Amino acid sequence: MIYLDNAATTRVFKEVSDEIAKSLQTEFANPSSLYSIGATAEFEIFKSRKILANALNCTESEIYFSSCASESNNILIYGLALARKNRGKKIILTGYEHPSVTKPFEFLKEEGFEVVVINPRKDGNIDLEDIINSIDKNTILVSAMFVNNETGAKIDIETLSKKIKEKNPLTAFHSDIVQGFLKYKIDTSKIKVDALSFSGHKVNAPKGVGGFYLKKGVNIRPVFIGGNQEKGLRAGTENIHYIKGFSKSVSIHHKNMMVEIKKYTQLKEYLLKRLEDFDNIIINSPENAAPYIVNFAFLGYKSETLLHFLEKEEVYISSGSSCSKGAKSHTLTAMKLDDEIIDSSIRVSFDTNTQMSDIDVLITSLENAKNKLQKIKLKITL
Ligand code: PLP
Repeated sequence: MIYLDNAATTRVFKEVSDEIAKSLQTEFANPSSLYSIGATAEFEIFKSRKILANALNCTESEIYFSSCASESNNILIYGLALARKNRGKKIILTGYEHPSVTKPFEFLKEEGFEVVVINPRKDGNIDLEDIINSIDKNTILVSAMFVNNETGAKIDIETLSKKIKEKNPLTAFHSDIVQGFLKYKIDTSKIKVDALSFSGHKVNAPKGVGGFYLKKGVNIRPVFIGGNQEKGLRAGTENIHYIKGFSKSVSIHHKNMMVEIKKYTQLKEYLLKRLEDFDNIIINSPENAAPYIVNFAFLGYKSETLLHFLEKEEVYISSGSSCSKGAKSHTLTAMKLDDEIIDSSIRVSFDTNTQMSDIDVLITSLENAKNKLQKIKLKITL
């Protein structure tokens, strides 16, 4: 099996599942319980928090655990907007955010907030000035993802954060860093960011654990309420086992980050070179995109048909983001690409297990697809 859909999810590292299995057998106490085994469980969570804090260069009190990045995005977006609603109603997001960001914004719009959407340019990149120019004295929140999950388009969040705060120091800045977390160094002491969301299953931990960074002192209204876990921001008994597994995967990646990004760059270079042999391919990812996500159109073939053809050859890729389930890619639509390009686009994404030979298999399968699949009539030509 050749798995090239790591932006959708990743395999759990063996070290991570071992850590979880051990914890499941031994650490059953509730971390909120007052007796010693409860305190031990709480200390284990504290140690995991420290590992994440180290990866983001913040204090452990600024790290919060949740069940997934969607939950983190909801907690942060509602929480930051509602805490500022008396100061202004304007909230800004990019036009290629994940649904767990766009939908809370849509909900806030229904509640009377003014929502401004900044679309990427045709090359797939967001122009930072488009965001900055939209900020005024009523702007209370900007949300801009670090690495886009469909094309790998990257935003320089360090520069953006500085520009946001220069324009309006009271505007909160949130970034969904799910697809860039542990791929690039993110130093919260240098970025003027208020909140970041991340997920375990994109970095070889299991589904069902995630978290967020919230800068010390930032005003937020709790919206996921109940018990006082995670300082009242994310009620519910902590999943100590998955939290420990997640922190294990964080420590592994954090140590290997430089080597891994070099590997992804080589894999991307090789893939692009092999794709040059086809006369029907258009690369949708921006040139300066993250190297582990490559989005391209295989013109003349519907992406869903291609996906299932490749699946029969045991090659797994995506026809867009995994959350869209066959819906038209909202990122490619926001880039205003031609429908024929959007309908024939696929996404290939790597993780540390990906090999050069996997790309050779993909290329052979694409050649097979060209020979065996019926071509649809095209209006556009290359
Ligand atoms: N944000 C981005 C950029 C993603 O790619 C995803 C998952 O596809 C999410 C958020 C949601 O992550 P989770 O599955 O942990 O809720």
